[in-house]
Amino acid sequence: MSRTPRTKAHPNARWKLDHDPEALPLGCNGLYGKSGYNKHKYHGTEPCEACKESKRHYERERDRGQNYPRKLKPCGTPAAAKRHRYNKEPLDIACRLAEQRERNEIRDRKRRAKLAASTDNQ
Ligand SMILES: [Zn+2]
Ligand SMILES: [Zn+2]
Repeated sequence: MSRTPRTKAHPNARWKLDHDPEALPLGCNGLYGKSGYNKHKYHGTEPCEACKESKRHYERERDRGQNYPRKLKPCGTPAAAKRHRYNKEPLDIACRLAEQRERNEIRDRKRRAKLAASTDNQ
């Protein structure tokens, strides 16, 4: 058995436009992931389309880090502020400031885009 390390040219190299992250295609053994595919390999049979699709989906999700527990952003980032809001936690000052900063940036970006658009038209 030879194991060739998979080189990743791009983290989303296996991403397909019609890829549905929510879909859980099951192999012919009724399980999601590579187990059906591996079973075919183990028994020396050709993997069926269902098992291949399940394996492909699993690997795509793995490559985008979906099957791993996510690291939470630390306080003082807009993501942490959003998390506090989502969890209905009180906002601490660092997160409040980060949120404010993000809002200002978005506002400035919009303002600049508007300005650029208005000067283009004249
Ligand atoms: Zn199968
Ligand atoms: Zn916080």
